[in-house]
Amino acid sequence: MPQKQSLSVLLVEDNETHSHLVQRHLKRAKLSKIEITQAQTLAAAIELASSEPFDAVLLDLSLPDSAISETLSRFIAAVPHLPTVVLTSLDDLDFASELVQQGADDFLVKTDIGSQILLRSIRYAIERKKNKQKLSAYADQLKRSNDELKSFAHTIAHEVRSPLNIVSCCLSLIHEDYAETLDSDSLEAIADANTAIANMTELVTDLLDYSRVEHSGGQFEPIDLQTLMAGVLHLLKSEIEQTSAVVTHDALPTIIGNEVQIRQVLRNLIGNAIKYHDPSRTPQIQIACEHEEQCWRVVVEDNGLGIPSESRQQVFNPFVRVHESTGVAGTGIGLSFCQRIVINHGGKIWVEPNQPHGSRFLFTIAKPQSR
Ligand code: ADP
Repeated sequence: MPQKQSLSVLLVEDNETHSHLVQRHLKRAKLSKIEITQAQTLAAAIELASSEPFDAVLLDLSLPDSAISETLSRFIAAVPHLPTVVLTSLDDLDFASELVQQGADDFLVKTDIGSQILLRSIRYAIERKKNKQKLSAYADQLKRSNDELKSFAHTIAHEVRSPLNIVSCCLSLIHEDYAETLDSDSLEAIADANTAIANMTELVTDLLDYSRVEHSGGQFEPIDLQTLMAGVLHLLKSEIEQTSAVVTHDALPTIIGNEVQIRQVLRNLIGNAIKYHDPSRTPQIQIACEHEEQCWRVVVEDNGLGIPSESRQQVFNPFVRVHESTGVAGTGIGLSFCQRIVINHGGKIWVEPNQPHGSRFLFTIAKPQSR
């Protein structure tokens, strides 16, 4: 984009000698037109910047009506759109990075000021502010469309559940009223329809849970994994009994997270380890929690069917199912749901082959001090 050949600059400086120097340098810069307006207090600067269309402001932090530590934040809070170059007497990088974090677009050490440096800094601040504004507009738009998408998925899932319930009730009524008069083909068709409805209901419930992950992500609290694990194993009691699975676990720590979500992850991973067992072996499932410097690493390993190497990343995508041919029921959402939850907790999840058979699912969860 071509550089603007005229600039209108607000100079906020109460020291006349400094002000004079800056104005002289600015006037010497090779521009067709330069307009400089001076303000000597923060209040006057805010008033001017709010009513006139300046290209940038050169802001001294030490002003009669504002403490050095407050000038920048007060100015930016009042006039967030104006590219701001801070004039400082301190040549200190830590101080400079603090200024940038507070929202300054550039800073200049007063003793270094010259025409070219001043001009470059103002132009840089103008470009930087434009980019910041573009980025923040893009982030807002992304957040809005994400929120819309989530609430859309949520609504659709709700809307689908209600007709499903009606169809299911109608089928039970038909079955109750006509069971004796219907032939075996019709009864089989009703049974098939009921299975399809059960699968669809499971899918809708999974989708609803999936769309809720970030909505409930705010409530992080200490979770005693030992107690949580006992609850998960109780929920899976009938699956464990039916398959004679042997589930063991180490002593587990207290972590910080959303209890409902972490329960879902463990339930899914242990539930899958049972579901995808190899019928020729007694399912052996071991849960461990390894201590890493920054995080805990939870490992769920089984001696089941395993996952071929080419599918180990894809199983975390929605609707990917690897063992469809075994006839084990499922929606293909569980692992993508786990991944969403783990990411929401600042961790990662992956799967490795177990030796000699089965899989090892691992996920990390940040320790409290590193969050
Ligand atoms: P679902 O179990 O509903 O199909 P998931 O997202 O939980 O969905 O799992 C995706 C796929 O990953 C499963 O269909 C299965 O093929 C594979 N899988 C998951 N866990 C295991 C496991 N412990 N052992 C072998 N395969 C697994």
